[in-house]
Amino acid sequence: MSIRLLSETIINQIAAGEVIERPASVVKELVENAIDAGASRIEIVTAGGGKNLIRVTDNGGGIAADELALAVSRHCTSKLTDDVHDIRALGFRGEALPSIGSVARLSIKSRTQDADSGFEVVVKGGYLEGPRPTAINRGTIVEVSDLFFATPARLKFMKTDRAETTAITEVVKRIAISFPQIRFSLAGPDRNTLELPATCTQGETVTDTAMLERISQVLGTEFSENALSLDSEREGVRLTGFAAIPSFNRANSLHQFAYINGRPVRDKQVFGALRGAYSDVIARDRHPVGVLFLQLDPAYVDVNVHPAKADVRFRDPGLVRGLIVGTIRHALAQSGIRPATSGAEAMLKAFQAQGFETPQNTYSSTTTPQRHWQASSGYRSEAPRSEWSPATAHPAQRPLHFDSNALNNPAQSGLQAGFGEALQAGITQFIAPSADSRAAETDAPAELLRAPLGAARAQIHANYIVAQTEDSLVIVDQHAAHERLVYEALKTALETKPMAAQMLLIPEIIDLPEEDAERVTAHAPTLERFGLSVERFGPGAVAVRETPAMLGEMNVQQLIRDLADEIAEHDTANGLKDMLNHVAATMACHGSVRSGRRLKGEEMNALLRQMEATPGSGTCNHGRPTYIELKLSDIERLFGRR
Ligand code: ADP
Ligand code: MG
Repeated sequence: MSIRLLSETIINQIAAGEVIERPASVVKELVENAIDAGASRIEIVTAGGGKNLIRVTDNGGGIAADELALAVSRHCTSKLTDDVHDIRALGFRGEALPSIGSVARLSIKSRTQDADSGFEVVVKGGYLEGPRPTAINRGTIVEVSDLFFATPARLKFMKTDRAETTAITEVVKRIAISFPQIRFSLAGPDRNTLELPATCTQGETVTDTAMLERISQVLGTEFSENALSLDSEREGVRLTGFAAIPSFNRANSLHQFAYINGRPVRDKQVFGALRGAYSDVIARDRHPVGVLFLQLDPAYVDVNVHPAKADVRFRDPGLVRGLIVGTIRHALAQSGIRPATSGAEAMLKAFQAQGFETPQNTYSSTTTPQRHWQASSGYRSEAPRSEWSPATAHPAQRPLHFDSNALNNPAQSGLQAGFGEALQAGITQFIAPSADSRAAETDAPAELLRAPLGAARAQIHANYIVAQTEDSLVIVDQHAAHERLVYEALKTALETKPMAAQMLLIPEIIDLPEEDAERVTAHAPTLERFGLSVERFGPGAVAVRETPAMLGEMNVQQLIRDLADEIAEHDTANGLKDMLNHVAATMACHGSVRSGRRLKGEEMNALLRQMEATPGSGTCNHGRPTYIELKLSDIERLFGRR
């Protein structure tokens, strides 16, 4: 076959193959065009997952009648002059409309701000009709129907309507985050309506509050409650946005958003840096949540890497990575101690799911709870509803097994004066066995109550510290908290002063495969900084003379074997820091002997104070919260007092 120039239609279809991958890509291109046109309202309607219909209506500048035909011609754009390195608009390739026109039926109706009437062009299968006059308000309506009718092969690759509908929603949300001054609405027979009212006016500088409000519209208010604000600049690159505290993490990366000069991107380097910032506070299979805005001279970033403009190339990738990692880590460290509100939310839900609802909800409105509950005799059999019986009742309505007998037999239980004090004393005995913790309860000084984690009240199930602040109840997972504290101390030991060591009465000799013995002794100087003193003890053995004081008593044999494994796995020239972090984590894990150990009042309070003073201690090494806080107002809600 001889060589010849492809027809315009074929060229456009080839371009469409890259630019218009699925209905969501059409939505992305059309919404970007509306934003570039200066619109303050953008309405999107879809049907059949966008395959049947996509309509985008905007109130932007519009297209003049004599330019309508150009708009749908290849390589025609109003957004680029001569410099492909100075890109300030979202579009610049002049490819989207002709590509869409080559694979679907495309209609554009538009009326510029000063025109008396509007005009329409229609493109179908690459053929242009119009322009002809049409009735339309100022702005532009672009309608795309029968997507991919001209390219049946592509049509076959489409996912279900539902999947395409969801993808469109994601695209709109992603782009809406960086334009809070624009009102977006997304509706159609195939979906629930999404309305995102503008959170500031056009032309105004976008404040942090306006930004966070838009983000909350998209991600829910929970995000803003758990987000730290970011703002820093390095060598002309500015980073703003929000990063969630580590315990507010997700199972996938859908809640990560990045923008470069306002353009949504899915750049691997940027997302890699976001992950990197959380690497030692979140488990490997969990994903941080964050919204990052990078602002830099357009000349320092190439957005023309891919037709869909999702990837970019930075002139100095190291600078950008350092900025993101440094800023987020700093913000996390500054934030001090703070649990995810989702912990308290989950706790409230758990209580409610078990039937611990407010009396108003549990009982019918004509009866009062007091009528059924009598302190002296437990539940009476004359239940308000005929179907009610202690066995079938909601847990909240069921008599508590623990005290029903005692209450029914006051003489036996010694409850002569009602169930107030005596029962209280019984409970106190249950949960606060040591004299010390009882002392903590009676006279907690006011300043302890004012501390973020409050005054320790009791330890339950040998692992949970219950503490009280001025306006909340705090429950600390002492094992997780201790593990985190040890880990942080080990990391500090690497950078500043070595950790205190504790001499073993008799050195512990550990038999190891020769390579492991070799590896461990090779890192002896580092381990020494951690307070672990190891030396060679003949072939295939090492001797441990000192262990980190902070770890207390532990299984030294197991620790050394685990360390040998960690070193073997991570000991590469460039991964020293990585390896040390793993070694620290392994040691922290072994050191958490406090789980299952009863703590005295002052020990508990000391742990709480240490947590408050340690950055990052709100999350364990695996990204789980180390404590949860329930506000008094929430407790009151549970009891129907509010
Ligand atoms: P690009 O956006 O890369 O310039 P497009 O093919 O998406 O290329 O659009 C071509 C041109 O059509 C744009 O440069 C712009 O001038 C015009 N245009 C497209 N959509 C709109 C709109 N909604 N409002 C005003 N002008 C538009
Ligand atoms: Mg465009």
